[in-house]
Amino acid sequence: MTYTPVRPDALAPALRVNLYSDTQTKPSPAMKAAMMAAELGDEQHGDDPTVHALCDRMAALLGKEAAVFLPSGTMCNEIAILTHCRRGDEVLAHATAHIVAAEGGAPGALAGVSVLGLPGAGGQFDAETLRAALRERRRNAPPQTLVEIEQTANLGGGTVWPLDRLRAVCDAAHEAGMAVHMDGARLMNAVVAAGVPAAEMAAGCDSVWLDFTKGLGAPLGAVLCGSAAFIDAAWLWKQRMGGSLRQAGICAAACLYALDHNIDRLAEDHANAAALARGLAQVPGIRVEAPETNLVFFDTEGAGVTAEELAARLRRAAVQISTMGRFRARACTHLDVDREGIEIAIAAVRTALAA
Ligand SMILES: *Cc1c(COP(=O)(O)O)cnc(C)c1O
Repeated sequence: MTYTPVRPDALAPALRVNLYSDTQTKPSPAMKAAMMAAELGDEQHGDDPTVHALCDRMAALLGKEAAVFLPSGTMCNEIAILTHCRRGDEVLAHATAHIVAAEGGAPGALAGVSVLGLPGAGGQFDAETLRAALRERRRNAPPQTLVEIEQTANLGGGTVWPLDRLRAVCDAAHEAGMAVHMDGARLMNAVVAAGVPAAEMAAGCDSVWLDFTKGLGAPLGAVLCGSAAFIDAAWLWKQRMGGSLRQAGICAAACLYALDHNIDRLAEDHANAAALARGLAQVPGIRVEAPETNLVFFDTEGAGVTAEELAARLRRAAVQISTMGRFRARACTHLDVDREGIEIAIAAVRTALAA
């Protein structure tokens, strides 16, 4: 079996407007300068002052006791599952969750858990749906130990979980004796869009993480937060998975820079996403899902082309989008795309479909 790369055209000439993902940002000169100036030590030995500064800041931001720096968001999710669950347990998550669709089957491969995919519009489920999925405690039933929530819900359209729904789901999970883990890859997008502090959004969650490579502009890094006991246990898995680092402060410095400079500006990305959605909605045959944050999902079926065909035509115009289904495309705004880029992209879609 062969696997196609995530981005088959990785060698394409430099793109004019890259709406493929908010992961594709390059660190800015100022961010690189902050990285070069970072004080460093051996992270694995607890001696990197910049990593400590980042972890302290993240624990405070998310209202948790402790935090651990990890190379990627995927590792945050998998370490959280390994820490919360035992082999044979069942994790409840939305059917479109990143842990289901985009982590190479790691919950099964690494943690030995199964994931029960819950239904619901916009990548979200409510407390009623969660309660309906609870199993009777029988000898032959998998123990249900963890509920996972994605804020924002990526494949759900970048939607923001409303605070009351979040609280109700967390309460229902805790009543059933389960822990709650928040995949906060784009948590700060939700925070900026809703105007709700991050700690309040994460209040009912036993663990939560933020990705610094999704729209925050850092080259790598994510921080997982929870109770002191949880982070202590998570460290053992970090070590086992080869995620313990050395002079990681050089990367943590980029994350600190992002916290200082790249959070409030997410509102610009959301405004650009709204402008893109308005423009795309004017193109005959395109059906747009109204964006809540920086992800714009749209359907190409009415225009008589697959999402992949549209993406291929756009690449020739040096505009890149991603495909999330036969007729479902995604365009993602971020700090390396400005309003002019949005206008170029809308015009390119119009031209690509007129051809
Ligand atoms: C990107 C993403 C992840 C994984 O993060 P990486 O840093 O790419 O490993 C997890 N969850 C969601 C919702 C994501 O969008």
